[in-house]
Amino acid sequence: MNDDLARIFAQPHATFRPPAIGPHATAPRQAGPHGDGGPHIELREQPVSEQSLSRHEPDRQDRDFPPYDRLGELQLEAIGLKKSYRKASVEIPVLKGVDLGVRRSEFLAIVGQSGSGKSTLLHLLGTLDSPDDGQIAFDGRRIDNLPGRDRDRLRNRRFGMIFQFYHLLPELTTLENVLAPLMIGSGVFGFLRCRRKYRGAATRLLELVGLGHRLKHRPRELSGGEMQRAAIARALIAGPDLLLADEPTGNLDQATGREILELLTALNRQQKLTIVMVTHDPAIAQRADRVVRLLDGRIE
Ligand code: ADP
Ligand code: MG
Repeated sequence: MNDDLARIFAQPHATFRPPAIGPHATAPRQAGPHGDGGPHIELREQPVSEQSLSRHEPDRQDRDFPPYDRLGELQLEAIGLKKSYRKASVEIPVLKGVDLGVRRSEFLAIVGQSGSGKSTLLHLLGTLDSPDDGQIAFDGRRIDNLPGRDRDRLRNRRFGMIFQFYHLLPELTTLENVLAPLMIGSGVFGFLRCRRKYRGAATRLLELVGLGHRLKHRPRELSGGEMQRAAIARALIAGPDLLLADEPTGNLDQATGREILELLTALNRQQKLTIVMVTHDPAIAQRADRVVRLLDGRIE
């Protein structure tokens, strides 16, 4: 896989140009993170001025959120997150006041034992679920209280998510799985209009993650590592600003897990993609720039 990545990265601009459907597109990202002028890939094209979430009209509650510049460069910020589950009238507190800041382009790992609430937290950060209390801001805007449609759009265009069990759609091919977010995001007619461009982008992305030879396979015909690479390609297709990863190597053997981590690290280093990864495994977490621990419902 390293060879694949090296080969693709060695072709500046040649490989990865997904459609610019992200509403918060930025100028193309440049060279490697260490200013080495090395080969690079781009996650998006030129800025898009279409209607965007960043233009979401703040509601009254938005004004309650502390000024964004309070914490400088934070891309994602959670304050006082609380979440309990109710089971047969018993309340199980899981998150008891999580404060968390994620800097732009950071690779952050959150470790915690099984059952400590890692998935719960990631789901809240990804607006798949709502906190009972507390607030979440992304790019300085409160997101935990957005209407459902805006959350869907935010997830579709700004966030990429990957999971321990991949969550690929079994009846779709690898290529179709990667295209799925674009089908959802652009609607049937929009998708059909841009079909060729989208297919090209998805193919190049699958080549980037080393799956160019598995485009027509269905998930059951793929190995675990291949399914996770397909899921990563799907998470990247809309040019997200943030990748949320829930135990992405949890179901893989050590060597394959390492390959997936290398891929994530390359995306972070070369693309400056912000990654928040949760894992129960401290050895996996060590690959990140920064590690925080979720313990007794709080970030230590
Ligand atoms: P982790 O990902 O760290 O293993 P989770 O966030 O999945 O932990 O779960 C944290 C706790 O919340 C666990 O004790 C789990 O049993 C409980 N839990 C998770 N989801 C639900 C749910 N939908 N209903 C009730 N309890 C839940
Ligand atoms: Mg979990």
